[in-house]
Amino acid sequence: MGVIVSPEVREIVKRYREVWALEYARSLLGWDMETYMPPRAFRERGDVNALLETLKQRLMTSPGFMRLVNQAEPENDVEKGIIRVLKRDLKYYTRLPKEFLMEEEKVKAEAFQTWRKAREKSDFQMYAPILGRIVDLQRRKAELLGYEDHPYDALLDLYEENLTVKKCDEIFSKVDLISDMFKKACRKNLDRHPLEDEKYEKAFMERLIQHVVGRLGYDFSRGRIDVSPHPFTMNMGLDDVRITVRYEGRDFRRALMAAIHEFGHATYEMNISRELQATPVQRGVSLGIHESQSRFWENIVGRSRWFVERFYGEMCMALPFLSAYDVEDVYRYFTLVRPELIRVEADELQYVLHVYLRYKVEKDLIEEKLEVGELPNVWNDLMESLVGVKPPNDRLGVLQDVHWSHAAIGYFPTYAIGSMVAAQIYKLTDDVAGMVEKTDFKGLMEVLSSKIHRWGAVYPPEDLLRKATGEEIEPGYFVSYLSEKYMK
Ligand code: MG
Repeated sequence: MGVIVSPEVREIVKRYREVWALEYARSLLGWDMETYMPPRAFRERGDVNALLETLKQRLMTSPGFMRLVNQAEPENDVEKGIIRVLKRDLKYYTRLPKEFLMEEEKVKAEAFQTWRKAREKSDFQMYAPILGRIVDLQRRKAELLGYEDHPYDALLDLYEENLTVKKCDEIFSKVDLISDMFKKACRKNLDRHPLEDEKYEKAFMERLIQHVVGRLGYDFSRGRIDVSPHPFTMNMGLDDVRITVRYEGRDFRRALMAAIHEFGHATYEMNISRELQATPVQRGVSLGIHESQSRFWENIVGRSRWFVERFYGEMCMALPFLSAYDVEDVYRYFTLVRPELIRVEADELQYVLHVYLRYKVEKDLIEEKLEVGELPNVWNDLMESLVGVKPPNDRLGVLQDVHWSHAAIGYFPTYAIGSMVAAQIYKLTDDVAGMVEKTDFKGLMEVLSSKIHRWGAVYPPEDLLRKATGEEIEPGYFVSYLSEKYMK
């Protein structure tokens, strides 16, 4: 990995350290907010966050810093990566006026509150007006940021560098095929697995999770596991990358798979090369690549027969009820396929269908082909044709996700990219498939780390994938992975 040699880039990185420190502190505040913050601190913490965001914007857009970035002549890949990432950040902070960002923050705060109430009452009409304002703001945002072909491209690029409608259409080109496979797989399945109803002891489950992620390679000297309502990963610096889990008290695969998923996110951040520490490229390059790491460990490793065989003994120790089930039972439980209304409950086979639905309606909303008021009907019809079930109400349909309330339109496709990239790595990289079979976790981590993790954000996501697998993103690998696993 090239070190930073040019004096201009050295100066940029030196000045950037203030932003890095600020981001470190904000991450810790964000982690605290979701885990241990007392409930009434919410408002005060919100004010602090908003101020720190403006402070970051001020640091990033100071004339001296911007001039350095715009005039820099990077000499190697690392330097090029640093300048590329900073220019992206600067584009965001300079093209969106402060008034726009403040308005967006205000609308988001209101939308989140309204969404929560509307979801509780399962009443989309209550949410529709504020969602309309969010959509208008995102259309404006696209205009402010600029795009070549499609306004949605400007939003997609915020979450996945260089992602466009054209590329998304390619990524989702196999959706009908996946939908057919899914419906076929459902037919050969039990409706419900008895393990879904087995209750577990939280303390034992906690020990099992610590044991499993430790064996997979989580470095507890640089991380920790806490509890939060929605599992997440938060990276402060290279030596502090934390994950959270949630214990439902039954249906143990939920807590276990969520922990393995977050572990996958955490390893990406933990394995970034130390040479990139405190620079703008000490970060996972995109949401899609990040999600590929979490899904690789969760689905390809965690939901494999080899994983079940490897940990069956340990699972039986923590979960005494399990001795009534054999390895095959547990594997079937881990890979159960059945129509789900809720995206986050969906199995790996139908997950992409849920994502495609969201991509389609978002694109149409931004294009003004679809009005907010039509959403529930369009949503329900798409669910019926893709997944085969029709949501009985808005809560189980169009109101289920928080993303739109956070003004995150353009985010969902990154989930599909994650699934597809994970399968592509599995199929194309070195002996990854053999290592999964041998449960050689150390070997897997070395490959993922050298091909993906260590590079941080040095290369744009597409270049990184090409370097790692020799190819552009190709949904065919995902289809063949699914077909081998679920169609036999
Ligand atoms: Mg994730």
